[in-house]
Amino acid sequence: MLIDRRRFLALSVAATAAACAKTNDAGTGYGGEAGTATTGAPAGGPPSSPLPPPATTPRVSGTTRPAIEGGGPSSTTTSSSGSNRSTSTQAGNGGVATGPARFIDTGPATAGALALTFHTNGDLRLAQRMLDIAKAHNAVFTNFIVGNWLDANPSWGKKLLDGGHELANHTYTHPNFLSLGAAAMDTEIARCRDAIARVTGDGGRFFRPSGTDDGTAQPPAAVLAAAARAGYGIVLGFDVDPLDYKDPGAAAVQQRTLAAAKAGSIVSLHFGHQGTADALDAVLGGLADKGLRTVTVSQLLGA
Ligand SMILES: [Zn+2]
Repeated sequence: MLIDRRRFLALSVAATAAACAKTNDAGTGYGGEAGTATTGAPAGGPPSSPLPPPATTPRVSGTTRPAIEGGGPSSTTTSSSGSNRSTSTQAGNGGVATGPARFIDTGPATAGALALTFHTNGDLRLAQRMLDIAKAHNAVFTNFIVGNWLDANPSWGKKLLDGGHELANHTYTHPNFLSLGAAAMDTEIARCRDAIARVTGDGGRFFRPSGTDDGTAQPPAAVLAAAARAGYGIVLGFDVDPLDYKDPGAAAVQQRTLAAAKAGSIVSLHFGHQGTADALDAVLGGLADKGLRTVTVSQLLGA
């Protein structure tokens, strides 16, 4: 508990600040990142080691996916390399962030591994089933926690940790994050961070904004800055998106995931969705058949 407190010093945003203007799950709390992207992202250039450079490499060839979302700068196809006013922040618990967080959407391919990341809230029976399947495959996830879900189900923090999974921050109420002002962003991130820290003693290393449907688009500077203020050095995107939150059915989730997944991939999946749970066993089996191990994001990035 004490250890990681240090890295939160930066924040000051006070969890007390206006208790979440957008208190309510815009998106039902069951996933739904909103949007219509197409399937599995093309994925990008060969990442380097141990941490890919900040978004410098255009990881996506065709960022033409319609990024629906309210608010934010609707990624005008300019996910380019944008600014990487890089920072000296680290992915790990490396202390207080000193600049905007970096954006990473894929990991090094060198280890023959990939990371499955899960928006984490929703039905507990489905969640348990996911964990059981993971255990059967010796697979580990990175669970992007929706904070109010964890507060409502505090035993799940330990349960996830006990399974070898990594916890990360996916806001407190899962709003359309890009539409928020700075103060509300701060509150959302801080409340989720604190919910995670209460259970695990650690706020996690990665932040992923809610309601984003293009995992490869460089987030607006405001998001990177807000993440850093809460102590996060990395905002984590994803380069494989089977759109499972749209409930396309287990077969589609399986096919899309396996077709796009490769070493270094960061895959976006969602708890709370039947089709995802139904596909998981086949997905994990298929990944193993491709010679891919699942690791946590920290492990993938060598963080
Ligand atoms: Zn989400």
